[in-house]
Amino acid sequence: PAALDAEALRADFPILGERVNGERLVYLDSGATSQKPQAVIDAEVAFLTRANSAVHRGAHTLAAEATELFEDARTTVAGFVGARPEQLVWTSGATAGINLVAYAIGNASVGRGAPASARFALRPGDEIVVTETEHHANLIPWQELAARTGAVLRHIPVRDDGTLDLEAATALIGERTRVVAFTHVSNVLGIVNPVSELVALAQAVGAVTVLDACQSAPHLPLDLPALGVDLAVFSGHKMLGPYGVGGLYGRADVLEALPPFLTGGSMITTVTLDEAQYLAPPQRFEAGTQPVSQAIALAAAVRYLDGLGMEAVHAHEKALEARLGEGLRALPGIRLLGDAPGADRVGLWAFDVDGVHAHDVGQFLDARGVAVRVGHHCAQPLHRRFGLTATVRASTSVYNTADDVDVFLDALSGVRSFFGASA
Ligand code: PMP
Repeated sequence: PAALDAEALRADFPILGERVNGERLVYLDSGATSQKPQAVIDAEVAFLTRANSAVHRGAHTLAAEATELFEDARTTVAGFVGARPEQLVWTSGATAGINLVAYAIGNASVGRGAPASARFALRPGDEIVVTETEHHANLIPWQELAARTGAVLRHIPVRDDGTLDLEAATALIGERTRVVAFTHVSNVLGIVNPVSELVALAQAVGAVTVLDACQSAPHLPLDLPALGVDLAVFSGHKMLGPYGVGGLYGRADVLEALPPFLTGGSMITTVTLDEAQYLAPPQRFEAGTQPVSQAIALAAAVRYLDGLGMEAVHAHEKALEARLGEGLRALPGIRLLGDAPGADRVGLWAFDVDGVHAHDVGQFLDARGVAVRVGHHCAQPLHRRFGLTATVRASTSVYNTADDVDVFLDALSGVRSFFGASA
């Protein structure tokens, strides 16, 4: 594929022209949320300006047009992850998607929604397996599900180098395992996890797999059916799209068998005062009014990414990741998390600065126009595992350049002496 010209495409992102504290903005916080190209902003404005109307309802012209745009967006976004439109459920984000799945699985033992749902039912002593690297969004919903059902939550440990301990996973995933939920790329370590190995372990015992693709979907070619996962989630705002929209992908037979989580309007066929019949997926999981303008803008975002080519995006960000990694390793007093030699990575590094609190590092960089994330990044157990409470995280997207990396490294090189920590 044609190499990506980040310098040229920066012009598509109006915010990158802003100055922060009098400096050129060096935005290295795309792991938290990405910036949006004008095409995405325009798509949302164009819909609200010219086509806004309730979907799947009215008999009038605008309603039909809005419905068509909304369903076209589903086809586009589903296609971006290798799926058919009926395999994509709109959510408000990854957190909502994982909660949807956890509650739907919880309803499998008690709800009335889906005839084949018994296959998901959890009994006391059944096991839900996650990893030690999860974002809280892919941990707490499972803690709650375990508490509601009597299931036991177990975790695959992470090695010192940030890779998952697959030997431990092999020993852990067994007869009682019903769910295996794990992240494709940790939002702290940046390492691409071995999805097919984990899927094979889960499939061997008939467990449902749930993939958190938040940090992979924006950065590498993603074919969810080819990965073999049963369910997967991603967030629009991290992949050049707007807030308030995300996707839940599911294998057709899995979605077919799952009962709903939220119930109400737009997800039913017939309703009496005593009971209701539910629509097939994806509508069964889309109760209430959906994020219509956001979904349409997310389709514009994935068209933008497709236009660049995800192979080219991945190659570009790997080059930035390598430059970041090399530069960080060369600075004294920096401890990188997840610096596994030869690991497949996205453009994301979290690190500790010896003698300087992460928040001070963040403020010091901010004063120089460099935006990074500091804190536990919603992954407290992982930080605890590495004996830390907070780290600094630099993360890239399509619009970052080698110059961004160099400005960041140059600014960072002064932080320890500024705070008197370099003695
Ligand atoms: N999982 C991972 C790996 C993430 O990085 C994030 C966002 N930081 C989430 C889940 C949650 O995404 P959202 O807040 O958009 O629902």
